[in-house]
Amino acid sequence: MPEGDTLHKVAARLRVMVGQTVTRFQSVIPDLDLVGRTITAVEARGKNLLIWFDADHALYTHLRMAGSWHLYRPDAPWRKPTTAARAVIATESWLAVCFYAPVVEWLSAWEVEHHPVLAALGPDLLGPDDAEQTLDVALQRLRADPRRPLGEAILDQRLVAGLGNVYKSELLFMERLDPFKPVGDYDDSTLRRLLENGRKWLRRNLGDGPRKTRWDAGRANTWVYNRSGELCPRCNTPIAMRRQGALGRTTYYCPRCQQSGAAEPPRGRVMVRGPAR
Ligand SMILES: [Zn+2]
Repeated sequence: MPEGDTLHKVAARLRVMVGQTVTRFQSVIPDLDLVGRTITAVEARGKNLLIWFDADHALYTHLRMAGSWHLYRPDAPWRKPTTAARAVIATESWLAVCFYAPVVEWLSAWEVEHHPVLAALGPDLLGPDDAEQTLDVALQRLRADPRRPLGEAILDQRLVAGLGNVYKSELLFMERLDPFKPVGDYDDSTLRRLLENGRKWLRRNLGDGPRKTRWDAGRANTWVYNRSGELCPRCNTPIAMRRQGALGRTTYYCPRCQQSGAAEPPRGRVMVRGPAR
């Protein structure tokens, strides 16, 4: 499932095409022809990808659950059906194909800056901005709705960009936090540690190989994600799964050891509020 680390890895791979001229293009966007244009940048913002052409327009894709970008040599066989291609960008030496992406848009630089999704994005945990400032802003945004369950809040890309459904369950398990408790029940240092840990694991997973959120050799790649019914590695209680939020996203958790991790609500302190959502 594409999360922030996936998109940053995709962007890094596709950057081999920067500086090259498009020799062939097709997409689901009617009448769009990019042949002759030059690829000038490839940028991941949270789980969104922007491929810039001549620095003034970008092909914007969001992969959601099933989408992917593949990079091939021009004559190499594709690993997914041609009918699943949503965008194909060829240069002399490379061929990039976007499969199954539900969102493919052609945007001017102005439209990128005013796009309802892109403009509303929270700070990207893998973004280029100052790390401390990124965490400060993310924390402020999480605080904007203290009644929101933590497991929903950290998945909201408007509050903090990059964490997806796998990281949500894994990080909350690692930090022993209850996904269903409201954000307001947790103090700043707890939330900050959660965000820092999220950034750490996103960064660790920028290399090759499958995404791992546990590093003990020979063990599984995840602690609780997709493991309902298996025993909690910490306390042997069966791992549970509940659907959470308006989209009914799966949340995996230990009903025992994630109950006790909640911090006391902050006392005698001014709550920092973020912008209204
Ligand atoms: Zn447990």
